Amino acid sequence: DHLVNQIAAGEVVERPASVVKELIENSLDAGCSRLEIDVEQGGIKRLRVRDDGGGIPREQLALALARHATSKLAELADLEVVGTLGFRGEALPSIASVSRLTLTSRQHADAQDVQDASDAAWEVAVALDGHVDGPRPAAHPVGTSVEVRDLFFNIPARRKFLRTEKTEFEHVEQVVRRLALARPDVAVELRHNGRVIHQLAAADGQPEAVWARLDRLLGAGFAEQSLELDASAVALHLHGWVRRPAFARSQPDQQFLYVNGRLIRDRLISHAIRQAFSDVLHHTRHPSYVLFLELPLHLVDVNVHPAKHEVRFRESRQVHDFIQNAIQRRLAQGVL
Ligand code: ADP
Ligand code: MG
Repeated sequence: DHLVNQIAAGEVVERPASVVKELIENSLDAGCSRLEIDVEQGGIKRLRVRDDGGGIPREQLALALARHATSKLAELADLEVVGTLGFRGEALPSIASVSRLTLTSRQHADAQDVQDASDAAWEVAVALDGHVDGPRPAAHPVGTSVEVRDLFFNIPARRKFLRTEKTEFEHVEQVVRRLALARPDVAVELRHNGRVIHQLAAADGQPEAVWARLDRLLGAGFAEQSLELDASAVALHLHGWVRRPAFARSQPDQQFLYVNGRLIRDRLISHAIRQAFSDVLHHTRHPSYVLFLELPLHLVDVNVHPAKHEVRFRESRQVHDFIQNAIQRRLAQGVL
């Protein structure tokens, strides 16, 4: 089983950033309102994600590290309509098989069983042979921490492919940036080697708070230089920001596309966006945007790839044209 997990890790765990992504997604699925990401030496030496979400009951801690033990799918049919970020139950066991992993959690007092009235934190760790140690008592506020040390310590061939500390941290920061853009309602703190890199307050619903986060994550001036966009057609909804044509040249590419809250890469949508920009500006350039597409869950399949950054649309032509038109219209207004 340990070996199966290590093989699965090959698909999900590429570098510290991919670990951070899976851990943050779990925290968001757990309904957290605050995230702390603490990284040492690019995350190779140690990384920890702490949340204030719902926590994991003592008796489910070991289970969370078992393969396909997701709590997010009631039955297989749910794969048709995945609403959470995680759903495969692979991430924690995979990460645990290629690192030294500790999982610490504490549930809300009123979420706990009447029998298990102890309002306490518990911890499990994965031993070298893959067996789970614990649960043992621990100190932790309500929520969950996952600490991952010495990534790939037991797979030298994979470890060799890690880049410098600096490069690995840049990947971590990019992952945090992507998730923090999608969830301005969640407070985020990112530290590297003890230094605070990002400290983002939870936006309170005011547009200014969201703009402030855009500027912090994408560079001062992003919000001001962008056009906000909000368009709907039948079941499709698109909102977000596209860089104003006048500023398109001055900035590096910043392209963030979310489908139902999940950051994805999609050639069809990239094409639609590029097309919209070149139609309005009469030449192709690399547009900057942060866009959120929402559509009914049954119109999009997210279970295409284990790392979950690709999707398949049921009505791809319709999605393409909707996006192209919405951006085209907004850009045309912005030019005037
Ligand atoms: P998945 O996210 O696909 O369900 P994971 O391996 O990432 O699988 O996580 C396994 C399970 O552990 C989750 O389904 C969830 O029940 C639990 N879990 C993991 N991280 C957290 C967290 N931060 N807070 C609460 N529960 C968590
Ligand atoms: Mg997960």
